[in-house]
Amino acid sequence: MGKIVKFTCKKCGYVVDELFLGPGFISNQVAFKCLDCHGIMSKEADDNGHLTDDQKTCSHCNGANLVPWDGKCPNCGNKMKDECIGLWD
Ligand SMILES: [Zn+2]
Ligand SMILES: [Zn+2]
Repeated sequence: MGKIVKFTCKKCGYVVDELFLGPGFISNQVAFKCLDCHGIMSKEADDNGHLTDDQKTCSHCNGANLVPWDGKCPNCGNKMKDECIGLWD
């Protein structure tokens, strides 16, 4: 079962809504950041945390420059606070 997590930056107020993270029944979801539009999203990854072939583009801008997200605010670089708001399976 995975977690649905909301991230909030206490410094600038940037919010990442409802990321589906962790291992679920059929997929492993990992957070990625887009270098083009700076959007944060969860994507299906393999056991090594690498994106599967059909998941390599950004959900927002269709760019192909996704990198694993380090949990920092894409707006100001502050470490974002996570809050579990639900579970998925
Ligand atoms: Zn921030
Ligand atoms: Zn993007």
